Amino acid sequence: MSEPDGQRLQRLNDQVSAARRDTEARGETFYQGASRIHLAAFPPKERWNDWVELDSRAWPKRKERRYSLIPTTCFNCESACGLLAYVDTETLQVRKFEGNPEHPGSRGRNCAKGPATLNQVQDPDRILYPLKRAAQRGEGKWVQVSWDDALDDIATRIRRAIVEERENEVMYHVGRPGEDGYTERVLAAWGVDGHNSHTNICSSGGRCGYALWMGFDRPSPDHANARVILLVSAHLEAGHYFNPHAQRVMDGKASGAKLIVFDVRLSNTATHADYWIAPHPGSEAAIFLAIARELVVTQRYNREFVRRWWNWEEYLGADRPDLEPTFENFERALLELYGTYTFEFAARESGIEEAQLREVADLVASAGTRLSSHNWRSAAAGNLGGWQVSRCLFLLNALMGAVATEGGVFPNGWNKYVPKPMYVPPHPKRWNDLTWPQEYPLAMNEMSFLLPHLLREGRGRLEVYFSRVYNPVWTNPDGFSWIEALTDEAKIGLHVALTPTWNETAYFADYILPMGHASERHDLHSYETQDAQWIAFRQAVLRVARERRGEAIGDTRDANPGEVWEENEFWIDLSWRIDPDGKLGIRKYFESQKKPGTKLTLAEYYGYIFENSVPGLPERAAAEGITPLEYMQRYGAFEVSHKVGPLHEQRVPPAELTDANVDALGRVYTAAPKPASPNIVPTPAPASDDAGRRPVGVQVDGDVMRGFPTPSGRLEFYSGTLTDWGWREYAVPTYIKSHVHRDNLKPGQMVLIPTFRLPTQIHTRSANAKWLDELAHTNPVWINPVDAEPLGGMKTGDLVRVTTDIGYFVVKAWVTEGIRPGVVACSHHMGRWRLTDNGQRQMTATVGLDKKDGGWGLKRKSGVQPYGSADPDTRRIWWTDAGVHQNLTFPVHPDPISGMHCWHQAVFVAKAQPGDAYGDIFADSSASRRVYAEWLKLTRTARDHSPDGTRRPYWLMRPLKPGPDAFRLPALEQSR
Ligand code: SF4
Repeated sequence: MSEPDGQRLQRLNDQVSAARRDTEARGETFYQGASRIHLAAFPPKERWNDWVELDSRAWPKRKERRYSLIPTTCFNCESACGLLAYVDTETLQVRKFEGNPEHPGSRGRNCAKGPATLNQVQDPDRILYPLKRAAQRGEGKWVQVSWDDALDDIATRIRRAIVEERENEVMYHVGRPGEDGYTERVLAAWGVDGHNSHTNICSSGGRCGYALWMGFDRPSPDHANARVILLVSAHLEAGHYFNPHAQRVMDGKASGAKLIVFDVRLSNTATHADYWIAPHPGSEAAIFLAIARELVVTQRYNREFVRRWWNWEEYLGADRPDLEPTFENFERALLELYGTYTFEFAARESGIEEAQLREVADLVASAGTRLSSHNWRSAAAGNLGGWQVSRCLFLLNALMGAVATEGGVFPNGWNKYVPKPMYVPPHPKRWNDLTWPQEYPLAMNEMSFLLPHLLREGRGRLEVYFSRVYNPVWTNPDGFSWIEALTDEAKIGLHVALTPTWNETAYFADYILPMGHASERHDLHSYETQDAQWIAFRQAVLRVARERRGEAIGDTRDANPGEVWEENEFWIDLSWRIDPDGKLGIRKYFESQKKPGTKLTLAEYYGYIFENSVPGLPERAAAEGITPLEYMQRYGAFEVSHKVGPLHEQRVPPAELTDANVDALGRVYTAAPKPASPNIVPTPAPASDDAGRRPVGVQVDGDVMRGFPTPSGRLEFYSGTLTDWGWREYAVPTYIKSHVHRDNLKPGQMVLIPTFRLPTQIHTRSANAKWLDELAHTNPVWINPVDAEPLGGMKTGDLVRVTTDIGYFVVKAWVTEGIRPGVVACSHHMGRWRLTDNGQRQMTATVGLDKKDGGWGLKRKSGVQPYGSADPDTRRIWWTDAGVHQNLTFPVHPDPISGMHCWHQAVFVAKAQPGDAYGDIFADSSASRRVYAEWLKLTRTARDHSPDGTRRPYWLMRPLKPGPDAFRLPALEQSR
């Protein structure tokens, strides 16, 4: 009989306690550290500077090798887990990467992609020198160029654009930031509203639902202490923040928590679930509303929390003026509002049996305030109106009062710490319509995936376009439109690809500038992995190793392979070249404070932050007799606070209530200045009142509390913002029928789920990791036997043609019961390709591109093959597959509210036709433009719906937020 999880955990804890007693009895140190778990296998941190291991390659001889263990953070997904580089002190090479036990988020553990950083560093195909295009864009001919020449050329163009007030022609398009605010600061210093992200193809749908509720756009679930964990995602194998959250989900399960997983696929996460719910795609919100209704009907919700913290009075005032504004009336109104969301309705919409939905509802009800939940990507990223999925999911937390509680869900900004840097430039003055067009005033992030269409319509041009750790040709939908834009020099004057690896977009660049991998660069970050706040420091480990030996290192290039650099120093150098004499007012933000007139060094920049902006770090460092910078270089991470708790319940001190004004709904505004160094900085900033006082809290039962950074200061069940901007019908959490709802499918169409990740691959970045490529190198389309049978008895391995609204792709079938009937799924982490011999060869097919039949075709010439290189393993490559690039066949589907690209596709699935070959792609350019125009018609523009003449609600988050004046719509600006 298997041992129950709770007993097993207790037994393990007892064993750890016994081990600790024994270890300490012997007078030895028991490893504890920030991980708060026993990690006996880790070298004690006191010995990291001189660690001895036997050389496995010398076996059977016992040859000792000495290592300096230097921390950094992984850059293979957004989780920023700690890594410990084992730097051989004799060869000055990294021998391996293991976890960093001093990192409070990852606690010494990594997924497979962490240690595979070694492959990336040693990749024989990596780009080691700056390259300049030597033929037409996309022809694949390159010459090596000096950094100086490249920087001068780029700086001259940027300077000219700034001087000629064409600031909006400078754009930085980032895929994986991997840092908190450094580059936004650079763009602000240049005065350009040029930040563009990938977020609207990733997570904006989920973010939108959360932001409307609490002002923060992400949840920080406390899985480890939950009684019930509800995931609309595959967090045991992917997602934000994969490894740190996965280990805490397992901690929670080990302590007895029940796991509910919503996923149309039997993912690795779903296999660990107590309840695997595979609903029809897009129906998730209907299920959550039925559960919510059940909680209200049976009065199994946290009445007191709802009364205190929901903006129910605002809802009654706006939607039910017929009722007296009492809480009892709100409860009645709530029942009426959700009366139709019965289990019967949810079962009809989702295809899940009523009885199972009832069981799940009972489980949610049993969680009390220990309900942790998360919706990352998944349904929120796939469906028109997907943002209502995360909104309706959070409704359950808000009903249970499981918000900022142990085992509940915290606003991400409370479990994250972003220290203030030494220079904070002002907000840009000009609004960039290429990234924030008027059709999408409520979009959570830049409308980045529409860029080729916006350029084609003549809405602007770009003088300098940086793609940075971003590969839109491959990652975005409608990649052929990107190729059309990138090859048009009238639209994009100069394309600079900042990348550590070859990628499909870099082929269409003018410069490819090699940037460092995780152990070759500097970044500072903090993520919401648990109820705590931590910072982690990515650093160039060979530079640290050499500096420890007393060597003087100029910049990071001196320690990196070839001429590989990093963005931090690159931006400083480039900024100096843009403004060499300082007359543009840019240079001052990149100048040393200690040695005025010289360039800022990273030691000074980060040293300042660690000394001045991280509470507790100077004291901790001083206790070890080192500086804060040395502390971060030695340990790589620091926990700023642990168990942050319910900050909304904090009372605002009287000193902050000078000249306070309380509005009709209890929002409190103050004329008192902000405290000098608040520990928590809520990211969004709700608008001031008419007298210019800033919001400081909210009155709850007579006390002024911090509340939430929403317009009302409370959790916003009712969104006045949506009402004011023309979306009154969605002002409360509700259900929107997806574009792939059954009513919207043509006869014979199925739903394609193209969003799921593979646990051992990650977008563009991991293809140069041979260990990962060996593990995962194909993306067959999952199809249920009941769907495969009518398709001519389709079998696993058969070629399938999947036809979208604009084209088709040819892929192999995987017939499996692990997918809901009527739905097919294909991972988007595959299908890498290259046009020439230049490129990463371990995971790309060589293809030909062809303009034909009014569109584009892509055909595979050859698959992956073994080849000779400095790495003998490349001769041992045994796989030929690299998967199929399905995204090229997807049109853009911008959600009219969140701006999220709605990834799911209505498709026809059939056996391949004669002449079809594996990997064939076709996409029709005019169809792509037609679908773009159709979705554009769904929008409600700022021009027609802004309540106050602005382009966007000022309180909503926005990267690199321009000043308030830039928010005004242009015509109104002129008439003032
Ligand atoms: S989850 Fe894996 S890939 Fe992501 S940061 Fe952690 S170790 Fe790296």
